[in-house]
Amino acid sequence: MKTLENFEVVVIGAGPAGCAAATALAQLGRKVLVLEREKFPRYHIGESMIPFTYPPLERIGMIPRLRRSCFMKKYSVQFVAPSGRASQPFYFFNRYDRDTVAQSWQVLRSEFDQMMLENAREHGVEVWEESEVTELVQDVTGAYCGVRVDSREHGEVEVRATVTVDATGREAIAATRNAWRRGDPKLNKVAVWTYYEGAKRDPGIDEGGTTVAFVPDKGWFWYIPQHNNRVSVGVVADGKYLTRGGLKDPEAIFQREIGQNQWIQDHLSTGRVCDQYWLTAEYTFRSEYCADSGLVLVGDAVGFLDPVFSSGLMIALKTGVAAADAIHGALEAGDVSPARFAEYGRITRQSIENMRKLVYAFYDPNVSFKTVTEGRPDLADALTDCLSGDVNKDFSAMFEVFSRYTDIPEELPYGAPRPGPAERVAA
Ligand SMILES: Cc1cc2nc3c(=O)[nH]c(=O)nc-3n(C[C@H](O)[C@H](O)[C@H](O)COP(=O)(O)OP(=O)(O)OC[C@H]3O[C@@H](n4cnc5c(N)ncnc54)[C@H](O)[C@@H]3O)c2cc1C
Repeated sequence: MKTLENFEVVVIGAGPAGCAAATALAQLGRKVLVLEREKFPRYHIGESMIPFTYPPLERIGMIPRLRRSCFMKKYSVQFVAPSGRASQPFYFFNRYDRDTVAQSWQVLRSEFDQMMLENAREHGVEVWEESEVTELVQDVTGAYCGVRVDSREHGEVEVRATVTVDATGREAIAATRNAWRRGDPKLNKVAVWTYYEGAKRDPGIDEGGTTVAFVPDKGWFWYIPQHNNRVSVGVVADGKYLTRGGLKDPEAIFQREIGQNQWIQDHLSTGRVCDQYWLTAEYTFRSEYCADSGLVLVGDAVGFLDPVFSSGLMIALKTGVAAADAIHGALEAGDVSPARFAEYGRITRQSIENMRKLVYAFYDPNVSFKTVTEGRPDLADALTDCLSGDVNKDFSAMFEVFSRYTDIPEELPYGAPRPGPAERVAA
């Protein structure tokens, strides 16, 4: 097997988290190789961006590309009751700067991820597509020092690097191989989705807004208008509810649920299905650790949260650039021990935990965000910030009020770097 030693950092996976980390590292002058199993463009779910995807996208130079793109502009989100009654859309510019954070995009991930990859290459990142990482390599001390990759173009290669970044998404290679993967049983939902052409779109600036439409028993639809006259539409709920009466086929499940919400039924009535039906039951999980010696986990690989608030891309991009800063600092110091990634772990955990508390509240039938903020209008801004992805703040006052209506979950004890050998012995 060939050995390659030209890179300081090797990133596994060219999704948004991997490309954000790689590009930010290249901007800091680091030599980075990204290894991606697929040939891009490739399909991926996760298409609606919340406002606070803006800062990391700006940092890695993606905003001009997005402004030139055909992606639908997203200014708002609205909620629709099963009866079909829609709330007033919430416009992000009511709180944020109109020219930056207040407008985001509804993307087609095959196109967006390809743009991220091209942007990474233009910043000097080397990318090998069709290159699957088969093993994480550790030295005699247990520190991670690279990967083995099976590449269509380069063959089998051992790539040595001072830091390895796991950006493998829900595959989560490091957490899975090290048995660090922890479930979140209360958030164990199932999603079924497809795409429509010619479905109804709301007029004017509401055309690109996200709609979250409820089905009884706290299931919900997403309705995400995209360019090319397409709409991404999916339903998320407990598996037991979706498969009631023994239904198993994704198409049958989806078509039955349409009837549970008048607004969805009406909006889809003018369209036709233009893609296959997709289903996933592989839901929320966290990695017990965010890093080890010479290893950092980013994006879904460090934790995946139920997508009701479209937080995945924000967390992927944010953890990508935060990891890049931590890795750059560690390389400068000549010390890539776990302790160097403690602050990265704190930021990541705070992001996920704040969102997770709101997701728990959403699924509790006793909680209505509207009722909470009508009773305490002073909390409306904090709620908007958290839902928009401005998550690295202290929201304890807001969650204290939520706790009068629902059990706010205890924070999970996961997400710090793995303790070093000396700390493990002491423990
Ligand atoms: C039903 C559903 C709906 C969602 N909706 C939204 C939404 O509206 N908005 C939102 O923000 N998020 C949403 N998400 C979440 C979003 O999809 C993810 O958070 C996001 O894609 C995470 O990016 P990532 O870079 O961490 O991982 P990914 O995008 O999954 O990228 C990982 C990459 O790693 C590659 N890879 C994996 N293993 C290997 C290997 N061994 N070697 C080489 N390459 C490898 C994969 O091919 C892939 O390209 C949704 C998720 C689901 C399941």
